[in-house]
Amino acid sequence: MSRFLLIGPPGAGKGTQASLLADAYGIPAISTGDIFRANVKAETELGLLAKSFMDKGEYVPDSVTNDLVRDRLSHEDAQRGFLLDGYPRTRDQVLKLDDILHASNQKLDAVVLLTADTDELVKRLLNRAQEQNRADDTEEVIRHRQHLYLEQTQPLIEIYSSRDMVIEIDGLGQVSEVTERILNALTKLGLSPAN
Ligand code: ADP
Repeated sequence: MSRFLLIGPPGAGKGTQASLLADAYGIPAISTGDIFRANVKAETELGLLAKSFMDKGEYVPDSVTNDLVRDRLSHEDAQRGFLLDGYPRTRDQVLKLDDILHASNQKLDAVVLLTADTDELVKRLLNRAQEQNRADDTEEVIRHRQHLYLEQTQPLIEIYSSRDMVIEIDGLGQVSEVTERILNALTKLGLSPAN
C-alpha cells in the first residue's frame, strides 16, 4: 500500500514519471491536469469551466479541484494506494487532502519533489508545445504557470518538509535515470516497489 504525491514545477516531467512509478507500484496515477484535459476534450460542464482557467495558466478554483479529487480517491482502484500528480497545489488543497485522508484513515507515505532549473523547464515546455499543441504551452502562459508555481505551490514543500516527508529528486537527465533515482530514494525509505 503506497500513497505518494509528486510535486514539481511545470515541465519537470511529473506526468512521465507519474505513470512509470504508478506502474512499478501497481497503483493508479491520478493527474488533476489530465482529468481536466479529458473533461475539456469531452466538453463536459467541468471541462468548460476548467478550460477558462487552464488556457490562461491559472489554477482551477480549489473548491472545484478538491471535489474532483475527493471523488476520484473514493474509487475502488485508489483504495490500494495512489500517486497524485499535480495535486495539491495550494495550501487549501493540502488541508483538504489532509481531511480526505483522515476521514478514511489513510496517510501519505512520501512526497516526491522533482526539480529542474527554469531555463530547462521553459525549453521543455516550448518543445512540448510543438509536439502536443497544448493550449497552455505558449511562452507567455508558460511564464505565468512558472510564476504561480513559485508563489502558490513551492511553499507547500515547507509544509511537507516539516512533516519529514519530502524526497528531492533531480529531474534532469534521461527519463529512465530519473525514474531510477526516485525508485532508489523510495526504496531507501523502505518503500520499495516489491512491497
Ligand atoms: P503543469 O504542471 O505542467 O502546468 P498539469 O497538466 O499538471 O500541467 O496542469 C495543467 C493545468 O491544469 C494547470 O495549469 C491548472 O490550470 C490545472 N490544474 C491541474 N492541477 C490543478 C490543481 N491541483 N489545482 C488547480 N488547478 C490545477
